Parts: sequence; structure tokens; C-alpha cells
Amino acid sequence: MEDRLGEIRGGGPPKRHNARTVAALTGNPGCTRRAVLDSAGADKPALAERLGFPARFGQSRFAITRGNAFEAQLKADGGVELLRLVAERLGVPVPAGATWTDLGGDDDRPERSRAALTAGGVGPALFDHPLLGLDVAGRRVHLEPDLVAARLAGRFHVVEIKSFPVIDGQADPAKVAAAAIQSAVYVLALRELLAAEGHDPELVSHEVVLICPRDFGNRPVASLLDVRKQLLVLRRQLARMARVDDLLATVPAGFTADPAADPAALAAGLRQVPARYAPDCLAVCELAQFCRHEARGHTGALGRPVREALGGVVEVADVLALAEGGRAPEPEQAEAAALLRAAARLRADALTGNPA
Ligand code: SF4
Repeated sequence: MEDRLGEIRGGGPPKRHNARTVAALTGNPGCTRRAVLDSAGADKPALAERLGFPARFGQSRFAITRGNAFEAQLKADGGVELLRLVAERLGVPVPAGATWTDLGGDDDRPERSRAALTAGGVGPALFDHPLLGLDVAGRRVHLEPDLVAARLAGRFHVVEIKSFPVIDGQADPAKVAAAAIQSAVYVLALRELLAAEGHDPELVSHEVVLICPRDFGNRPVASLLDVRKQLLVLRRQLARMARVDDLLATVPAGFTADPAADPAALAAGLRQVPARYAPDCLAVCELAQFCRHEARGHTGALGRPVREALGGVVEVADVLALAEGGRAPEPEQAEAAALLRAAARLRADALTGNPA
């Protein structure tokens, strides 16, 4: 199996995951193409480039600099401000004598993190730059949560610091959703670490503290995110990727995602591995531009709600024909066809100013 995965990625070392890429695995769990490529550790950005559809996402340099400055500001003075924010959000008095342990640095960070986080102890503690691990498709992935707060409100809490603003109490829902799934990756890794050392994994709370700048300034505001749902999705997708042999059974013999291969052969091979393109892919998967191009003219390209509402009608051309009454629906398309005709009537009425 390892040989086959190596062939798929073109013989190079597997691309390493990080929390963002592990979180992104849950973005489209029904997509076999993505699961195969990620299990093989294929270089998807290079693959997309070679196919002529380079990925167009990632944080701008400005956003990264702003995020680093905000995090440094919060962690200054031994994290006093951070501790206050976290304690207040958890609804406990700000503790005196909380310890601050910086687990950063190059030497033996996983071991130092393991020792510090599983040592037990009674007092409140903050752990900066811990390094956690998680198995993804049989490979160990290293993860770096911003901060872990321990023994505040009796449990461990992952603290996630983001630079997107909360304006009038509201943040961009897509960014909050991305932060929630990324935090769930850390919660899962921390639970596995505690369990491996004989501690109760439930000591790690499913409530994550998210800290963002308030309004248009740099004053921080903390909120709680419940990541139980994200943990379920994450576990399911990781379990699916762990069954790599099942996934490989869906891939044609000779299939490769080697970025050095001929682009036409790469595109032809990829088309044989089932995908489920949805507009959400644009934010989470490097192959999104390729898959969007491939899905052109299909209802799935318009998003899951449309795909579900028009179940059984795959082509946009068929949607238009059914809406205009230009062709009779198949029996399983009858419901969608009635919906489409009603929508077409409403649209025509609206355009002619002649409401029914
Ligand atoms: S962009 Fe393509 S490969 Fe990636 S998740 Fe979407 S459909 Fe799957």
C-alpha cells in the first residue's frame, strides 16, 4: 500500500499536514478524489499548478503580520491580559499565581510538551507554543495550538488567537467556522495525548476560547466555541483516511498525481477518481479551480443546497429544459421538475410585473 501511495504522489516524500490542512480534510468529506490525494500526501498545490489551475487561497502577508503582532501583544507580560480574558470568558475568577510555560524552541519539543501537559498538578497554568501530534492516514502530523490553558474551570481549554475582527459582536461566520474546525483538531490531539498517558481525555473541554480583535482596533475579545460537532466530523474523516486500502480500491490502476507527469494525462487520471465539487471547495482545497472547471454545467457546481433541491437532475441544461417544460421529466425527477416550473413561472411574473 505504501508503494502505491508513493506512486500516486510521484515518488517524493509525502506532503506534511498541519492543523489547517487537517481541518480542511473535513471540508468536503464526500470527495473521494481529495481523500485519495491527501492520504497519499500528494503535493496538491504543485499538481494544481501543473494542471493549469493554480490554487488561489492562503493568507496575505499583511494578514499574517497583523496576526503575529496581535498574538505577541496578547502574550506580552507573561500573558496577564490573556489569562484575564480566558478566565472571564470561562466564568471563573482570574486566578493568582497561574504558571506560564513556553514550550517553544527547537530541542525535543514534542517530548517537553508531552511532559508538561501530562504532569498533573493542581494550580492554573498556561502553556505557550505546545507541540501536539495526530495520526493522519498512518502518518504523524505535528500541530501547534496557539495556547493551552490548564486547570481553569477545572479542565484544559485550547485557546485560539485569530486576527479577524469581531465587529459589533459579530465575526465573519466562515472564519469562525474555520477556526472551530481547526481548534477541534487541537482538542482531539490533546485528548489523545492525555489518553495515551492514562489520563481522562474528557479533561480537555469541547469549549475552545477564541480571541480576536474587537471592532477595528487591537483590543481583544474572547468567545467560546463548542466544537463537539466538528470533533465528530473530524473523527469520521480521519477514520475514513485510515482505511486507505478501501480508498485505493476506487482508484484506477496506474493513476498518478505526480506533478511532474504530463498535464493531459494527469487531468484524465483525476477525472476517473470521483469528486464532489461544491463552492465551499474554493476556500479549502487546492484543486478547487480544476474541479470547478470540470463541474461546469453541472448542478453540483452551484452548491449543496442546489444539488439537494434538484436531486436527480445533474446537468444545468436539463434544469433549464425542465423549467421551460421543454422535456418530460424522468419519474425520479418529477418533484424537482414541478419545483423548477413553479420557479420559472414566478420569475416570468416578476420580470413582466404581472404577479400571479
Ligand atoms: S476541490 Fe475537488 S478534490 Fe478538492 S474537495 Fe473539492 S471536489 Fe474534492
